[in-house]
Amino acid sequence: MLDIKDDFPLLANYNEQGTLIYVDNAATTQKPRCVLDALMEWHTVRNANPHRGSYKLGSLATDLYEHSRESIANHINAKKDEVVFCRNTTEALNLVAASFGPTVLEAGDEIVLPVSEHHSNLVPWMQLAQAKGCRLVYLLTDKLGRISKDELDKKITPRTKIVALAEVSNVLGTRFPVKQIAERAHEAGAYVVADCAQSFLHYGLDVQDLDVDFAAFSAHKAFGPDGIGVLWGREALLEKMPPVLYGGEMVQKVTWGKATFEKPPLRFEAGTQNASDAFAFMAAVGYLEQIGQQAIREHEDALTARLLEGIRDIAPLHVYGNPCMADDRSSIVAFNFEGQDPLLIGRFLDSHGINIRVGTHCAEPLMTYLGTGATCRISLAPYNTLDDIDALIDVLRDAPRMIVRSVLKKRK
Ligand code: PLP
Repeated sequence: MLDIKDDFPLLANYNEQGTLIYVDNAATTQKPRCVLDALMEWHTVRNANPHRGSYKLGSLATDLYEHSRESIANHINAKKDEVVFCRNTTEALNLVAASFGPTVLEAGDEIVLPVSEHHSNLVPWMQLAQAKGCRLVYLLTDKLGRISKDELDKKITPRTKIVALAEVSNVLGTRFPVKQIAERAHEAGAYVVADCAQSFLHYGLDVQDLDVDFAAFSAHKAFGPDGIGVLWGREALLEKMPPVLYGGEMVQKVTWGKATFEKPPLRFEAGTQNASDAFAFMAAVGYLEQIGQQAIREHEDALTARLLEGIRDIAPLHVYGNPCMADDRSSIVAFNFEGQDPLLIGRFLDSHGINIRVGTHCAEPLMTYLGTGATCRISLAPYNTLDDIDALIDVLRDAPRMIVRSVLKKRK
């Protein structure tokens, strides 16, 4: 099992003062010391505006920014110029929808997406569909959070122009077979956009192997800083896409009446780039490579199996998605206690130093589909330990009884 908690100052600091079991990693992860050091290094000895300064410090900033891009491209098996830096997954997906979408969609076309999509990979397509007179077609999941072959055959048709899906659902925890779905979509003549926000840290990303057309992810969900993410796109597609933001350093030439634009990726990076975070993201990727994807997978699978096993006999607890460990089961576990307000469960856990997420998880259509207003959600990361899981199970076991007791006490 991995033992890396001490690399994360926030976790180490909190654990000195009491207990912190941070299991809201699908929202954001904590940062290892090497990422914090990289941020400090940038601002203390590296800082200049990349792609602008002709002095030494400026040229070095440009080199480091581009070197960060190259490291991330290598990490995902992509070409350097296919990596567009964005603010996060949300901005990356909006960029594909706003720039690429209108170039391929016509009235009557269909955009296919799972009912479990995060709003970031749903609302941009919804807006585009409305603007172009297209239709959204939802892939429905079964009780185990999977999408059947029949469902894919029924919904992906010659009318499908875009299939947009998360590799891992941020609620159901299912890892969808993106590669197979992409193959099916490509046969139908559609393009595929993968939201890798919840898979990048946990499963890695090889864009050649996944064989999609676009992929998006955020650094902050993978030990990197917030404020930076990536849109990866096939070179030939990026080259055809118009910019959506205009300004400094994305232009080739500007006259009094006309502007021509840089090639990708700079065409999509108008204004001062987020070089410090790109530099720190490179440090995060280096750290991940040092740990190794296989080790991350094995560690998280062991934690998830222990968690699912431990909560299986807590009678009023219902898990959404697959309640058992499986190859397509990630370390995100959403649940509710029958008849209990999830907010009270979240507060109760917090009073024991356990941080989970409670709410709709930016997946409101899925909440409607599941017939619930909100859920609790545990999401693990490689720094979580078996001790964290055991403590979490113990507190969950007590939660309903203790909450009822405290409500009754307040009523007296
Ligand atoms: N897609 C999925 C599946 C997510 O879980 C999230 C965030 O939780 C996002 C997209 C949006 O990520 P960000 O807020 O970093 O843009």
